[in-house]
Amino acid sequence: MKSTLVLHIALPVPLYQSFEYLAAARQGVDDVNIGARARVPFGRRTLIGIVVEKTDSSRLPASKLKPVHAILDTQPVFNTHLMALLFWAARYYHQPPGEVFSAALPKVLRTGKFIAPVTKTIYRVCNHEVSGEVLRRAPKQRLIFELLLANADGLSGDEITRRVPDWRPAARALLSKKLVVKVPQDAAQPITTSGVASKEFSLNQEQYHAYNQIHQNLHKFDVYLLAGVTGSGKTEVYLALAKEVIVNRRQVLILVPEIGLTLQLVQRIQSASDARVAVMHSNLSDAERAQVWLAANTGSAQIVVGTRSAVFLPFKNLGLIVVDEEHDLSLKQQEGFLYHARDVAIYRAKQTSIPIILGSATPSFESQYNVNTGRYQKLVLSKRARRTKIPEVKLIDLRSKAVSDGLSNELLQAIEGELGQQQQVLLFLNRRGYAPTLLCRDCGWVAECSRCDVRMTFHKQQNIIRCHHCCRQQQAPDQCPLCQHKNILWLGEGTQRVENKLRQVFPNTAITRIDRDNTRKKNTLYTKLKDIHAGKYQIIIGTQMLSKGHDFPGVSLVGILNVDHGLFSTDFRATERLAQLIVQVAGRAGRATNTGKVLLQTYQPEHSLLNCLLAHGYEAFSREALKIRESCSLPPYTFMTLIRARAHRQEFTRRFLYDVKNFVETSPQWKFLGPIPAMQERKAGLYQSQLVVISSNRKILQQRLHDWIPAIQQLPLAKRVRWSVEVDPLEME
Ligand code: ADP
Ligand code: ZN
Ligand code: ZN
Repeated sequence: MKSTLVLHIALPVPLYQSFEYLAAARQGVDDVNIGARARVPFGRRTLIGIVVEKTDSSRLPASKLKPVHAILDTQPVFNTHLMALLFWAARYYHQPPGEVFSAALPKVLRTGKFIAPVTKTIYRVCNHEVSGEVLRRAPKQRLIFELLLANADGLSGDEITRRVPDWRPAARALLSKKLVVKVPQDAAQPITTSGVASKEFSLNQEQYHAYNQIHQNLHKFDVYLLAGVTGSGKTEVYLALAKEVIVNRRQVLILVPEIGLTLQLVQRIQSASDARVAVMHSNLSDAERAQVWLAANTGSAQIVVGTRSAVFLPFKNLGLIVVDEEHDLSLKQQEGFLYHARDVAIYRAKQTSIPIILGSATPSFESQYNVNTGRYQKLVLSKRARRTKIPEVKLIDLRSKAVSDGLSNELLQAIEGELGQQQQVLLFLNRRGYAPTLLCRDCGWVAECSRCDVRMTFHKQQNIIRCHHCCRQQQAPDQCPLCQHKNILWLGEGTQRVENKLRQVFPNTAITRIDRDNTRKKNTLYTKLKDIHAGKYQIIIGTQMLSKGHDFPGVSLVGILNVDHGLFSTDFRATERLAQLIVQVAGRAGRATNTGKVLLQTYQPEHSLLNCLLAHGYEAFSREALKIRESCSLPPYTFMTLIRARAHRQEFTRRFLYDVKNFVETSPQWKFLGPIPAMQERKAGLYQSQLVVISSNRKILQQRLHDWIPAIQQLPLAKRVRWSVEVDPLEME
């Protein structure tokens, strides 16, 4: 008798188990691969899942098992390595494996479709230094060359045929003259030197030391913390190593926190090498993402530069991982599957036995702690590569000064001075919109979101007020809804207000603003950044998006408008974050010349944190701050997990979390904080509370959570709240 084949399939549903199905009668055990996609019936739906196990029997009676509709792949979409990584991530972050698998697939595959490889070959110009004039004796070559010059993205053979019949011999001549290249058109974009001349310099001593340490150990796992001040040339170290890795036919993954940084990095890679680079970020279309996935899988992408989800790409032969700006919060996924891309990357490097570099001018306390305990190796770049000094931060005491629209006279004068010398000025304010508060002067009414515990932000251009938490928006009232008076005041300032003011004060100056409100459309951020580099703007106003990583050689003055709220946060990480922000933003100044200045406006010029940071630097500051963490038994000295509950009724969230706490046994191995309501207790109409579990032993905490979760699922209130678990939370909200 033919034995049955039972397939265990992980499905994208919020349940921690996999589900058993019968293989089709004609399918033998070798016909179905672990890691392949399967289409299966689930209740009344049809779902796409991943085959995770094959057995010849089931605990369920055969009559209870449904057959799969179809196995979609002959080759698995996840190889064994990636599968193991995803299983680890599911277990570590306490997420249903099916949901983790699903999150790691591009949408095309997730929805049961297939990625058709793009096989077109493209001709494009690779030498932009010459003009068609040099080909005046070969008119056909010249015609093709100029045609390609006019089409920067290149043209396929078909496209050329349409314009120049019988073109191939001339194209071959251009190829052999190295004026034109022929490249497969896929996600891995080859070089378009676009005028960026490659820089001629060799690594300095510190850079070389860092490079060499890693270079000598390319074949084994190690975590390197590359602690290099802003502008110290960390990127050059990554690139030098990447070249070596590529020569050995292996691939490089470079994770960056923000889309904006991918462009800059790709340009630098392209001006320094002829590697095939693919870019992965949230601004890509589904089809583009699918092509990147494929390019990683086939190995056609030698380097992938990507934001956090790139950590799950199916590399054919990964040889090095770089996590740039490793301290950055954006590396942590903030909704759905809550993973930290840096930490997943470290596991991946370990699993693959390759080195991983964590780079930052302001290393996270976690990473510094891991250096102190000997788990990571620290490599230091202490000086700026271009020998410019790191500018000192000067405080502007706002307390007794005239301030209008967030700008003190002192700062305005400094801006004027720089503009007079044709320098660029960068102003940082971490709040978008026009004004964060709309207030009635007569009765004190304040515009608040009806679904969240937050004030609505005024956006003057569209004359609306918008909630930055749930995105609800409405027409801005011109009279008070309570007392009907028309005495409404816009209080505080956002980037739009500062922009307005500057346009009034400096009417003949080119000013641009970069924040989430005006960079949503595809490519607008890229264009803006390019224009800033090209010197098109003298004043740049930006939020968080501009604080990190960017190399703006023309900026000589950085103004930090207001970070005081960071000094009073209840989140124990707020000071770490504020220090990182100040150092990073300040680091944008004076990168090319020696004239950088940084002015920080504050109402708290005597604050001890500010003063410690400014007088002694980030490292000394973090040493002090780490002592406090240790004495309070806070991370990184302990490990934290958050159990969150959301519900339409406030009491449900608290009662549920009390039930969790009471059900879990007490032990000296862990302790609970809370339940406490979230800082913004109401968000999009749902109340939130949280219970914090802290332990000094990660293993025990993880183990116990695995026991607790199934039991928590059984609690009576578990069905009336939406609850979730977050491992290593970074924001306490
Ligand atoms: P980081 O990534 O540490 O902020 P970058 O790699 O952006 O620093 O380097 C800062 C600037 O210094 C860049 O313009 C870069 O081209 C330049 N640079 C880097 N290394 C060197 C070097 N060895 N010699 C001269 N200039 C360098
Ligand atoms: Zn009123
Ligand atoms: Zn809201």
